[in-house]
Amino acid sequence: MVVKLPPSQIVIRPPVEAYSVLIAVTGGCNWNQCRFCGTYKGIYGSTQDYAIRPLENILKDIDIYAEKNYHGYPVFLAGGNPTSAPTEYLVKIIEYVRLRMKNVPRISCYAKALDILRKTDEELKQLAEAGLDIVYMGLESGSSKILRIMHKGTTPKSMIIAGKKVLKSGIKLSLYVMLGLGGKKLSEDHVKGTARVLTEINSTIFRFRTLNIMPNTPLWGDWKSGDFELLSPLECLIEERDIIKGLGENVTSQVFNDHVSNYCGIESSNIKIDRAAFINTLNSYINDPKIKNLPRKNLTQM
Ligand code: SF4
Repeated sequence: MVVKLPPSQIVIRPPVEAYSVLIAVTGGCNWNQCRFCGTYKGIYGSTQDYAIRPLENILKDIDIYAEKNYHGYPVFLAGGNPTSAPTEYLVKIIEYVRLRMKNVPRISCYAKALDILRKTDEELKQLAEAGLDIVYMGLESGSSKILRIMHKGTTPKSMIIAGKKVLKSGIKLSLYVMLGLGGKKLSEDHVKGTARVLTEINSTIFRFRTLNIMPNTPLWGDWKSGDFELLSPLECLIEERDIIKGLGENVTSQVFNDHVSNYCGIESSNIKIDRAAFINTLNSYINDPKIKNLPRKNLTQM
């Protein structure tokens, strides 16, 4: 039986927010069409409809955290895409966090490119001025073919415009890149397009995740029927190396492999400085004969 969760229930957060105060702002995802994503499609035995929580309920949650002395922690505004909510509403929430909770080092949330594109530069600036520090955005791939096949609802061009808008407002931007999303057929396209978009945006951070196909996702059927072929761990590492190799000289992003799905944990605080060392380390994995026989993780829960 699949349970329908209320919007106040938090389903997902980035690993980097594991020790943060989590405040549910939206439930579900206002897009919910990405073919690889099962977050709100029942993979955890639950679904959640898209909804924006009433402001007064969120302010009450903030009061409770403040009264329980949850000061000094980062705050993550949870939900698939809180930036889909009106700016005025988000500003009130962010300002209230800053008012009630002391020494908050970071306020963050997920953001979908389509929602960012709907906001004016002035609105994004208001969010930055209220105290939104960073948004996490799923680029997934810079290949237009892959984005279309996966129903991401974005194009490389719209991702570049959205990414630049975020950075221009003063909000930091962390992008997710999903290794293996083009399968074997579109791996080359994935590498080229992704390196190009990462170069154009030069986000504050980009993070690698590796595709694992979840039951209840449309992509699961393609995989089972043989239409979509998953990459091996070795091929995923090669994709990552080639994306890093393809970056322009201007790229100064921090880079992380901070997810259980990845096959390495390499990171950089500035890829412009660390690029050669990063590639060398990836090559040492790639050339290790043990990697050839490493089984895929095939995670069905994360
Ligand atoms: S990947 Fe993000 S935008 Fe796409 S369906 Fe999942 S939560 Fe929504």
